[in-house]
Amino acid sequence: MRINYVEIWENCLKVIKDNIHHQSYETWFGPIVPVRLENNVLTIQVPSQFFYEWLEEHYITLLKKTIKKELGPDGRLEYSIIMDKSFEDDNPYTINIPTSNIKAIKNPSVSMPIDLNRGKSKDIPNPFIIPGLKKIKVQSQLVESYSFDNFVEGDCNRLARSAGYAVAESPGKTSFNPLFIYSNVGLGKTHLAHAIGIQVKYNFPNKTVLYVSTEQFIVQYIDSVRNNNQNDFVHFYQMIDVLIMDDIQFISGKEKTQDIFFHIFNHLHQKSKQLIITSDKAPIEMKGIEPRLLSRFKWGLAADLLVPDLETRIAILQKRLYNDGIEIPNDVIEYLAYSITTNIRELEGALISILAQSSLNKKVITIDLAKQMIDKFVKNTLREISIDFIQKVVCDYFNISLENINSKTRKREIVQARQLAMYFSKKHTKSSLATIGIHCGNKDHATVLHACKTVNNLIETDKQFRVYVEELDKKIKI
Ligand code: ADP
Ligand code: MG
Repeated sequence: MRINYVEIWENCLKVIKDNIHHQSYETWFGPIVPVRLENNVLTIQVPSQFFYEWLEEHYITLLKKTIKKELGPDGRLEYSIIMDKSFEDDNPYTINIPTSNIKAIKNPSVSMPIDLNRGKSKDIPNPFIIPGLKKIKVQSQLVESYSFDNFVEGDCNRLARSAGYAVAESPGKTSFNPLFIYSNVGLGKTHLAHAIGIQVKYNFPNKTVLYVSTEQFIVQYIDSVRNNNQNDFVHFYQMIDVLIMDDIQFISGKEKTQDIFFHIFNHLHQKSKQLIITSDKAPIEMKGIEPRLLSRFKWGLAADLLVPDLETRIAILQKRLYNDGIEIPNDVIEYLAYSITTNIRELEGALISILAQSSLNKKVITIDLAKQMIDKFVKNTLREISIDFIQKVVCDYFNISLENINSKTRKREIVQARQLAMYFSKKHTKSSLATIGIHCGNKDHATVLHACKTVNNLIETDKQFRVYVEELDKKIKI
């Protein structure tokens, strides 16, 4: 009696299906076509060499067991592999190869997608495209607009930016590995990390770059545990040339994920692959991270992004407007840059709200509109008053220029305005006397202290002066 090879294979599939996750089953076993059974050797056709290697690496035990169950102890398996197109003719050809002969052929590169995102993680784009042998196709998840071109340089980001640029020029080959970028929120970590990735892709199109948020990494890891394919997960990450992990602080307290990341980190680092890590804190200040992982964060360069100064904030707004082809009056830009100081995302958010308001209500963008928006926008985010802002309010009030207040001039009214700016900075900001001094005409802390005393004395003794101070105080607090 002729044994039906299709039936045999179907029986094997039933067993396999019960033993692996259905996604993996669909991915790796769905495309297989049984082709013949001769001399107790079952031949199955697989779509590519990569496919064959994947099966051999991950499912060989299961395959062997099921084959022996169906065909008896002598039963064997053979693959018929559809190879890449050859140079001479365009037809795909197949080669046959017995099982467990994985190193017999070396050739093409094919990539197969497998989906490890399930359930909750559906909305997260899936970077999980399993690589082929040489070339791997990975969705980098890079955002085009987060380029170096769009990243405005300033004192606040100079070190991180230039280190990032150096890394992009020779990934894995500088001593900045990992490159650890840290700052408070909204100061450009994600943007800079993408910029490096984009630049690497530009310089080295064949390098595999992957941007992944740490949250996404954690979800993928949990899924891989649930689906019992941690190995796939680790292998995937170990094949990346430039790995960008954003917001690593989310890994705090997650021991298992830290463990797996530790291994991926070591593997990549040993192979001189580049790691770029961002965090909301410097490595030494991080909590809930295993010491061995923490120590690795310190291996390369840790560079922080600071709050941008006024000029940089203005430049960022201008760049944004220029890119969008929008023009708005300079005083509005300045007003925004003065008012929002600690978070670039909020700065951009305020700009967008103003643009939206103006187009919705067909209002011209004026400083008044900006003020209204800022009031709404910033009040509920508890605006921090900045020294720059205080100076601007004081200057506007006395109708003098900013240059004047910060100059060396000893004209009485200027000195008084400067002293008021110092006094209010002490009152309304958390800045130290020294910092206030530096911002107010490069004076030392003693000068600031003296200014505060003088203003306090005048408030006590001079009625008119007290009125000034009260009015100014209102304006500063808006
Ligand atoms: P973080 O990751 O530190 O929270 P983001 O990278 O998301 O901050 O930056 C917030 C916003 O500010 C983004 O829209 C980003 O494009 C913008 N931004 C930050 N730094 C700069 C910069 N130096 N030049 C231009 N835009 C910037
Ligand atoms: Mg970010």
